[in-house]
Amino acid sequence: MNIGIWVLGDQLWHRQAAITTAPENTPIIIIESLAHIQQRPYHQQKLVLVWSAMRHFAAELRQQGKTVTYYEAAPNFATPLSEWVNLHQIQELRIMAPNDRPFLDKINHLQLPCKITIIPNNQFIWSETEFKQWASPRKRLLMEDFYREGRRRFNILMDGNKPIGGNWNFDKENRQPPKGKIAPPAPLWSEPDPITQAVISQVKSLHHIPTYGAASPFRWGVTREQALAVLDYFITYQLPDFGPYQDAMVTGQETMWHSLIAPYLNIGLLQPLEVITAAETAYHQRQLSLNSVEGFIRQVLGWREYMRGVYLYVDDDYANGNWFNHHHPLPDFFWDASQTDMNCLHQVLSQVERTGYAHHIQRLMVLSNFALIAGLSPQAVESWFHSAFIDAYDWVMQTNVMGMGLFADGGILASKPYAASANYIHKMSDYCGNCAYNYKLKTGAKACPFNFFYWDFLHRHRERLQKQGRISFILKNLDRMSEEELEEIRTLARNWHREQE
Ligand code: FAD
Ligand code: SF4
Repeated sequence: MNIGIWVLGDQLWHRQAAITTAPENTPIIIIESLAHIQQRPYHQQKLVLVWSAMRHFAAELRQQGKTVTYYEAAPNFATPLSEWVNLHQIQELRIMAPNDRPFLDKINHLQLPCKITIIPNNQFIWSETEFKQWASPRKRLLMEDFYREGRRRFNILMDGNKPIGGNWNFDKENRQPPKGKIAPPAPLWSEPDPITQAVISQVKSLHHIPTYGAASPFRWGVTREQALAVLDYFITYQLPDFGPYQDAMVTGQETMWHSLIAPYLNIGLLQPLEVITAAETAYHQRQLSLNSVEGFIRQVLGWREYMRGVYLYVDDDYANGNWFNHHHPLPDFFWDASQTDMNCLHQVLSQVERTGYAHHIQRLMVLSNFALIAGLSPQAVESWFHSAFIDAYDWVMQTNVMGMGLFADGGILASKPYAASANYIHKMSDYCGNCAYNYKLKTGAKACPFNFFYWDFLHRHRERLQKQGRISFILKNLDRMSEEELEEIRTLARNWHREQE
């Protein structure tokens, strides 16, 4: 039987299951599809990253002696696939299971003159079956339980059957506000080579296709070698102090001590277990502080695997969740940062426009916190995140944005909504010091929108929140508020939306 392999743009790994389970000389096809990139206005940096990484990967496969057919900017996937299948008389097309469920659906609807075989995905530490076996007997899918099981199962940072250092979690040491002068190491960036430069020009010329952000300056790596260099740099210079300021946000310090590896992990240039092993080895060899190393490993072994597992575990309807029944449209400033005078949003959004990147707390406590308390439609917000971020894919969007960020799933994932007033942003960043609004005020002309939206949110959802143990005590503060103050807060929130719409 003639076999062919289709390698998808987020499966750029020589040891991915479709390649390793096929005979040595099996022909490979890789396709850039113009139809695919028109699903939403993708960030130009993401288009450059993925297409350039695909082109580099094809070149590497050819260097290894493989037969690779590469379609640049094809109109869609189906046309080149049919052409290629006919030309090579392929009888069985093998594809590693896509990470995103909508893409699997697309594959299932392809009309090709050959059999299609889906090979189980091996780009995560936990297989889909293993996650389902772990999850199915449980009433609650707690990340902490999952993470501890992962530590035991894969023997990571363990001392026999106990966690190294006696604790599973060092979060208390890792939530420091950015006081005084903060000087994180500059991140390691890469220079675009001729292949990447060609893709940058091509993406810039896509005038007929709606996109977001800017293609240049483009500084992301596009090969495994460059991704490994970023990992190595992180382990050497950033991991030692990753923990303490993990949640801090500082103007002009856009990456802090964060690793910047999600774009590479999510397209297969890095593998999660090698990242964890590198961090654990550095802990032992260089006596790094446990709070930093454990804090980082928790992100990759815990959060990342958990988010992907829950995504595959819940049903398709998860994407339609709207537990708070929020319907306000996305304000225009999400697409154009210059349109907001709220400094925290302005800083984070303009950074995303330039780079496609923001770190976790900027995503959670600035962008999605605002969307949650202002009552924006979860589907509109999810769609924006998917467009705007360089590392966004359906598998990571649904659980992070719908679940963690917006609580649109009613608490399948998070134990409470991540809703916060300006107090949090003031404590964890330097943004408020340079803002048109006053972080202390919830009423009046200078009132910070994070404040009036926060109290309006608590008021609007009082009944539902009352049942959420971890947030119900905050409602007592709402009870202490005078009728007049509450009315003014509600009016400010209503007027804010009127001005946007
Ligand atoms: P670091 O802070 O250095 O963390 C190390 C690694 O841990 C990351 O590279 C990532 O692979 C993993 N990780 C940590 N938290 C998560 C998480 N919650 N889910 C999945 N992986 C995690 N992550 C994405 O990969 N793509 C997204 O589009 C994305 N969107 C997000 C949207 C919202 C609203 C929220 C709250 C989180 C989102 N995350 C997303 C998770 C997390 O914020 C990013 O993975 C992280 O900020 C990427 O930057 P980094 O590589 O510097 O990460
Ligand atoms: Fe953001 Fe409000 Fe602080 Fe301004 S005052 S930076 S809007 S939290």
